[in-house]
Amino acid sequence: MTTTNPVTADLASKRLASDEKWMDVAIICGLDDESRLGDRFNGALPDFKRVTAELEKSDLMSEALTIALDIINDLRRRCGCPRVSISPDRFHFLNDEEYERVAGPNSPDAIAVLGHVYVRVSDTMINLQDLTHGLAHLLSYWELEIEVEEVDGDFRLVDFRRSRIGLFNGAPNETPTGVGLNEAMTELVASYARQAIAKAFIGRHLDEDQCIWLQKAFGYAPHVNLVWALCERLTSAGRAKSPLKLLMSDYFRGTNSFVEALNGLVPTKDLLAVYETNTSAADFVDRHELIID
Ligand SMILES: [Zn+2]
Repeated sequence: MTTTNPVTADLASKRLASDEKWMDVAIICGLDDESRLGDRFNGALPDFKRVTAELEKSDLMSEALTIALDIINDLRRRCGCPRVSISPDRFHFLNDEEYERVAGPNSPDAIAVLGHVYVRVSDTMINLQDLTHGLAHLLSYWELEIEVEEVDGDFRLVDFRRSRIGLFNGAPNETPTGVGLNEAMTELVASYARQAIAKAFIGRHLDEDQCIWLQKAFGYAPHVNLVWALCERLTSAGRAKSPLKLLMSDYFRGTNSFVEALNGLVPTKDLLAVYETNTSAADFVDRHELIID
């Protein structure tokens, strides 16, 4: 997730699909009377990167998005959250030149900004990994502070602040926390989607080796390992029956039950030791399949 300040973008009035998910909570500031925004701002956030040269999505990527959305919605349902849509238009596939204009030099191959995901088109497998990671971020809990200004009777987005995205907490006057935990959970949620995509694509879009790679692909591996270790501590201490589900629920609902359950249980030095443990991707997949049931 990358943000750029300051930003300005038109808040175009746009009719949304009733279940399109943008954010869970929007705190509007900068206007005396927020109600004056009316239907000029109904939750949709603009592509403020103003992409000019977008590549058409391949059938493979479009189908992968549909599968991933379905499986992550199922995870949301298990955590008591409603089914939602994410329009494919919010994923922008770009060539090298346009991607570098949008994301800047030395950026990772995908960034998520204000509810849009920008992907550098490269290797199909890397793009599938980025696509599922980006979608998981969009489907997590979003609380934003949005500053708006009125110019000649029109409204413009001036700035935004992520108060809370998934497990990342950037509440005003507090030190931001949960960056690594949020990325680990994003990868875990994405990995459910990658498994479903591999299952649907084998022998059709992808060969067996590609499917195995996709099922074992994990970014933020040390952070994921830390999450597994924390789940084990909670289980052995009898504090949570399904600790991963507890954490996943926090991720989708913006609550803090997992961290609260850990209170006083895990010394910081132990957390650091676990964080530094090297673990192969295969270890995650074995454990992951245990949890999915
Ligand atoms: Zn991320």
